[in-house]
Amino acid sequence: MNLIGDHTDYVGGWVMPAALTRVTAVAYSRSPDGMLDAVSANASGRINFDVSTVTPNNPVQGWGGYLAGVAWALAEELTEANVSPAGLTVAIASDVPTASGLSSSASLEVAMARVWREMQGLNLNDVQLAQLCKRAENLYVGVPSGIMDQFACSVPAPGQAIQLDCQELSYQVIGIPPEWAFVILDSGASRSLASSAYAERVSECEQLAKRLFDSDDIQSLRDMTAKQVDGLDGVLQQRARHLVTENARVKQAAQALGESDMATFGELMTASHNSLRDNYAVSSGALDSLVETSLTAPGCHGSRLTGAGFGGCTVSLVDRTQVTAFSDYIAKNAPAARLVTVL
Ligand code: ADP
Ligand code: MG
Repeated sequence: MNLIGDHTDYVGGWVMPAALTRVTAVAYSRSPDGMLDAVSANASGRINFDVSTVTPNNPVQGWGGYLAGVAWALAEELTEANVSPAGLTVAIASDVPTASGLSSSASLEVAMARVWREMQGLNLNDVQLAQLCKRAENLYVGVPSGIMDQFACSVPAPGQAIQLDCQELSYQVIGIPPEWAFVILDSGASRSLASSAYAERVSECEQLAKRLFDSDDIQSLRDMTAKQVDGLDGVLQQRARHLVTENARVKQAAQALGESDMATFGELMTASHNSLRDNYAVSSGALDSLVETSLTAPGCHGSRLTGAGFGGCTVSLVDRTQVTAFSDYIAKNAPAARLVTVL
């Protein structure tokens, strides 16, 4: 779950995600015929494919694509070591809400990669595992996402927040003061436009990188300055403005957290939402109205969409002693919303 820093991961910027205290569990046994045979309590159908022949040129469709993507990325990673991922029979169950912007796909990928790592004693650390799962999502499933989701599922302990530099892949664990609560609400609105709009934003970033840095690498945008933004116009200027201000907000938020400054952290969250709405154009009516209602609820210091937007969830910073009053107020004033979890 992302506290602040949205759409900054794929441009090599800074983000502040936290790992939910939720799990994707995988029961497994080795299958001698080299096939992967899988069922999930969270998705229909039985997945069956030959692990040794998976390729993005002919991808497994549906939710099995996440498993096949990890098998493929792992096989690529292990080519030099002359090791290949083994066939498995698996049963999956997860209490991470799916398709709500809370990274259930990354959770599934990391869970599967850990199964192979553990079973075959593979020498891959948690950061390498996150990178491998990102490749599965980008190149096999075909979602041009950044590293944040997979990193947040693989590296921090449950309940832990980190500040992550998405280019250097360096991070600091940051303690959340005990009197702070992050409340996640599902707006109930679907993210049907998410994948096409997400790809459109990535393509706008490609145009920006070309224009400002003459580069094909959108990670160059992490170095964009406010002055460069002033020199742009139109839609690209708005997108660039979000990226520059959002990166700055993540760093200010880390400082506010270090100083237990709840008011400032909350203001930065709300400013992040406003920029995602006005500059990056990834919010929706349902998310805007839930954020607005949350901001008038008892104990709330700030609120924003989380997980790329277009629908899905919000995260609000609430005084821990006020969480019940906050939830009661939401139940009464935003009945379509549902409490997902409190961190
Ligand atoms: P998010 O990652 O924000 O939850 P995505 O659209 O990226 O949303 O991924 C959701 C998809 O991931 C689901 O539609 C499903 O295909 C797959 N998925 C996630 N968790 C599971 C699971 N436990 N079992 C089967 N498929 C899953
Ligand atoms: Mg996902």
